[in-house]
Amino acid sequence: MEYVKLGNSGIEVSRLCFGSLTFSQTAMSIDAGAAVLAEAIAAGVNFTDTAQMYKTYGYIRRAMEMSGKYDLVISSKTYAYNRELAVEAVEEARRELDRDYIDIFMLHEQESEHTLRGHAEALDYLYECKAKGIIKAVGLSTHHVAAVKAATAKGLDVVHPIINVDGLGIADGTREEMEEAIKAAHDAGLGVFSMKAFGGGNLFRRAEECLEYILKLDCVDSIAIGMQASEEVQANVAAVEKGALAADAAAKIRARSRRLLVEDWCEGCGNCVKRCGQKAMRVENGKAVCNAEKCVLCGYCSQVCPQWCLKIV
Ligand code: SF4
Ligand code: SF4
Repeated sequence: MEYVKLGNSGIEVSRLCFGSLTFSQTAMSIDAGAAVLAEAIAAGVNFTDTAQMYKTYGYIRRAMEMSGKYDLVISSKTYAYNRELAVEAVEEARRELDRDYIDIFMLHEQESEHTLRGHAEALDYLYECKAKGIIKAVGLSTHHVAAVKAATAKGLDVVHPIINVDGLGIADGTREEMEEAIKAAHDAGLGVFSMKAFGGGNLFRRAEECLEYILKLDCVDSIAIGMQASEEVQANVAAVEKGALAADAAAKIRARSRRLLVEDWCEGCGNCVKRCGQKAMRVENGKAVCNAEKCVLCGYCSQVCPQWCLKIV
């Protein structure tokens, strides 16, 4: 496994970062999820991504116990916008992870310099924690080009942007515009670790192409990928080490049983219903519902969801 400096943060991470959201999305047991993360750690992954909202601290804590790797690099994030909520978020992470410090703490899903300004109190608190050594690096996660630019202008330590071969999920621009913003962030010394290389699972049928694209992006230090099974860990580790995903590993990824997940924050706009040629979607009680018997997991509906609610897990 290759290890890289995460910008000027002083943190060294594996090129592959373990995205832990899939644990809670797929309701895995703590031990089952932790075993997958422990397997990735044994294969050289030293970096995991979580969030206050993901409810996966328990999995990570158990994986550290299983593997004995208590210095795992952990990145978390919060929607906190004021000091009180930010204190709660940092203390919750320290308590549930049983760690004095959290390596990276970020503001979750920032959109622009304006939302960043609206979260100034929380950001100030994260910097206060950094000064005390409770946090090593401060950053933001985002689906917006404008927020990557704001992170760079503000001189944050780390940025965690969405980027994938189709530019799927980028809220305010094209793939090329996001690449340009990420490159500028990287050149300015921010650590960059990307999210959603497979477009929230929607591009899983093109796994080789997805990995080939993201592995060639020099401005991305580390690539966060959600994993929930041993074969995914082995395939992704090998792909990062060899620079390409092997055909047999890609076939195993494609063969795994999946479903369309509608996130809780669906607003029932009906765009997905209109887009679905299989007539698999309906809106019921203000939320989208998928008929799994009709759904062919094409991922087309996720392209028209303004809320980025539809994932294939
Ligand atoms: S497009 Fe998205 S927000 Fe609209 S109904 Fe479908 S899942 Fe919900
Ligand atoms: S993944 Fe494809 S088939 Fe399934 S609900 Fe979305 S558009 Fe319809």
